[in-house]
Amino acid sequence: MLNVVLFGAPGSGKGTQSERLIDEFGLFHISTGEVLRDHIKRGTELGKIADSYISRGQLIPDDLMIRILDDVLEKEAADKVGVVFDGFPRTIPQAEALKELLLKRGTDLHAVVGLEVPEEELVERMLNRGKETGRADDNIDTIKNRLQVYHNQTAPLRDYYTKEGKYLGITGTGSVEEIYENIVNSLHKATGHPRKQK
Ligand code: AMP
Repeated sequence: MLNVVLFGAPGSGKGTQSERLIDEFGLFHISTGEVLRDHIKRGTELGKIADSYISRGQLIPDDLMIRILDDVLEKEAADKVGVVFDGFPRTIPQAEALKELLLKRGTDLHAVVGLEVPEEELVERMLNRGKETGRADDNIDTIKNRLQVYHNQTAPLRDYYTKEGKYLGITGTGSVEEIYENIVNSLHKATGHPRKQK
């Protein structure tokens, strides 16, 4: 098993790098943001609740978010060789819950890859993504709230996972390819997990 959290501020490249990791290692990708956006698109009750938080750049409450994650793990990840968690955890209680959820499935979190990108670049990337994809929360006011929320609630996880010896800091600027190489090398060094032979 290889369970990895891709950690970083909004716009740091978690989604892009997750795609590559799942492709190379055959892992299951859980993006909590994608799960929520899918509910919004389908107009479910959960989607309506999620939208009221996402549109303000706020986090969905922990207890609800943890139940959603537990459900996805149960229904979709049970027979997988490992999971890339993209956008979860975002708070200390979520990190504690993740530990429990993995423990009850007889596994553990192996590494937390932190993509480190300067703030000006994050803003620029999100504004570009907003133009290209029409993603509703990629507008300047919501971006500012999301960065504030990140600093207050999510950034402390860096220390949390550093203390656990799981945090792998990666420079998140440069080409997508270079960043990916650094992630895979760092994961290999930290976990001994072999690269897939192409
Ligand atoms: P993302 O696609 O990861 O940038 O997430 C988009 C939005 O979904 C966030 O700004 C939050 O409002 C919500 N969200 C995603 N993941 C979480 C989480 N783990 N906890 C709380 N809210 C989340």
